[in-house]
Amino acid sequence: MSDNFLNSLNDSQKDAAIHIDGSLLILAGAGSGKTKTITTRLAYLISIGIDPSTILTLTFTNKAASEMRERAFRMIDPSMINTPPLLCTFHKFGLLFLKFHMSELGRKNSFIIIDNDDKKRILKSIDKEITTSLLVSEISKYKNTLITPSEAKSTAQLKLYQQIADIYEKYEAYLLKNNLVDFDDLLLLPYMILEKNEELAKETSQRYQYVMVDEYQDTNELQYKLLRKLCSTHNNICVVGDDDQSIYGWRGATIKNILNFSEHFEDTKVVKLEENYRSTNTILEHANQLIEHNRDRLGKKLIGTRKKGDSVRVYESHDENEETRKIIDDIKKLIASGESAKDIAILFRVNALSRSLEEGFNKAGISYRLIGGMKFYERAEIKDLIAYFRILTNTTDNFSLKRIINKPKRGIGKTTIDKLDAKSVELKKPIFTILEEYNADELSAIVGKKNSRTLKVFMASVMDLREALEESKMRFLDSFEDTFDYRASYDNVPDGFDRQANIDEFYGYIRDYFIQHPHLSLEDFLNEIALDSENSELTDQAVSMMSIHSSKGLEYKHLFIIGLEEGFFPITGDGSDIEEERRLGYVGITRAMDTLTMSFVHSRFYKGKRATLLKSRFLSEAGLIKGSLQLEKHSNYKKGDLVQHKIFGMGRVQKATKAGKDYKLTINFGGQRRDILSSFVEKI
Ligand code: ATP
Ligand code: MG
Repeated sequence: MSDNFLNSLNDSQKDAAIHIDGSLLILAGAGSGKTKTITTRLAYLISIGIDPSTILTLTFTNKAASEMRERAFRMIDPSMINTPPLLCTFHKFGLLFLKFHMSELGRKNSFIIIDNDDKKRILKSIDKEITTSLLVSEISKYKNTLITPSEAKSTAQLKLYQQIADIYEKYEAYLLKNNLVDFDDLLLLPYMILEKNEELAKETSQRYQYVMVDEYQDTNELQYKLLRKLCSTHNNICVVGDDDQSIYGWRGATIKNILNFSEHFEDTKVVKLEENYRSTNTILEHANQLIEHNRDRLGKKLIGTRKKGDSVRVYESHDENEETRKIIDDIKKLIASGESAKDIAILFRVNALSRSLEEGFNKAGISYRLIGGMKFYERAEIKDLIAYFRILTNTTDNFSLKRIINKPKRGIGKTTIDKLDAKSVELKKPIFTILEEYNADELSAIVGKKNSRTLKVFMASVMDLREALEESKMRFLDSFEDTFDYRASYDNVPDGFDRQANIDEFYGYIRDYFIQHPHLSLEDFLNEIALDSENSELTDQAVSMMSIHSSKGLEYKHLFIIGLEEGFFPITGDGSDIEEERRLGYVGITRAMDTLTMSFVHSRFYKGKRATLLKSRFLSEAGLIKGSLQLEKHSNYKKGDLVQHKIFGMGRVQKATKAGKDYKLTINFGGQRRDILSSFVEKI
């Protein structure tokens, strides 16, 4: 097969793409072709005869994985592929691994993945005192640093942390009992299995002879350890990353992984890419200016290859309505001029800012898609259905059972549920088993006669549906509706129309899944969607809206970034990390190919209040708002002013930026430029 595809790479990229054995680190800035290089490397390895099924490529988002798959497959001769290479997210890889090896931990592989919302509900049911978000993040930290509940308990010093460790232990017991796994488990459990079973670790490593990781700067310690296991019998690991784009510090990602890569894996070849192919020079310059304000960086070079392009626009608006109007107007013009909606995106730091734009799009009749926001699967009606289907595949799932036992309403109140729950704990049996094993009288003794009858009917319906499911996956949805009338329960209720539309969409999606994958089960479907972070309901021809976190690795011809206000971007205050915020700014700006618009407002409605806001420091740091502009407002200094300094004499102000109460003035003293604080000079 021809390897013409290598010709679209520059020399350094090619050098990396044709590297075969041994560890390889590609360290380079945004838009320098890192992803393109590893995608090409994947195609190259296959073209020289390496068995595709021995190549594993890991990414962070499904969208990135599917884009890479598409790009790589375009380069590969289909006849070279028997089993396609595995190209997926870390979590998907963990899921596949657990499906095969969960029994190593003495657990069944019919586990169910819970999402963040489920996790919060479980934690709330265990403890009502400590803020749930704190519990969520601390438990996640424990898991990602491989700290078990008993270790957490023995090392906790503060009372608060003793309590958290205690809740962690109960939470783990709950997951085990209901055979649930959370997202962190999808990485942690495979690691534990590989740690425990050396033989399996060796086999797994031999199975994946070539491992590649995109966005390596966002891996955490657990992911690093897992990768070490995967490469234990060879050293064929290739990672790409950019220290300036590390944006998951808050989730335990550690930049050390990329900085110490050469020590972690022996004989590393390091390739640096220094040209940016994505953005116009103007956009790139602003991105570079912004990131230069960070101290904690390797300081790579990034040179533009494209033309200067249009200037970056900065929109100043009174409030979010005006901001929305301006942006929607621009988008209308872009589309009218022949641009495609899918080449346009709007980014924000804080998800809640999308609301006003969504309204704007709806009014203007422009289709849009919200990536990674309020996910389709997080909507209450969809979660209910998922809970129902979980019960159908696994009746021991108490958690899901409690969610739907009274949906649609059948008179089972919270007291009844609590009684059943208590009984389930006492007997160490799932609630559903109790409903099955107890006869009506015995059940009446726990929950009363009327409830007992209702519950028995409910139990029988679930059993019937389990049979219907076995008979025909395609027809079971009809039987499900006939039995529970779930969809009809949204007749004549406020926003029922939207909810029914979502339900129809979901049913359609399930049917489609079964048509496409006739050999897969409802359980497979449930696990698949638990990992699907993208919105499946929407078309391709739409403007994209997403958080900067979700935009990692992507690119758009026309980009808008909104909410450039102090407090929103950067997020300020306790626990915020200004350097990470700035890296987010850098990631955001470098998504743009041809045009970029940055927008700020004077006031925004947020969390029930209207807040007055100041424009983001990032605008001046990126050189988008000239220091002198601010100066005119706040002081007497502006570009061109003549000033006198005690030692250096007379000079002219070139630039002024705010520095605390003072201004940092760049002054030209007869050909010599110096930076001096305004309090040290006198204006003439
Ligand atoms: P990020 O850090 O944002 O993930 P990246 O380094 O992964 O960026 P890519 O997405 O691979 O960069 O490439 C950015 C753009 O530059 C893509 O449109 C890609 O096709 C193009 N590109 C990369 N290398 C070359 C090249 N040698 N010649 C022409 N275009 C290139
Ligand atoms: Mg990339």
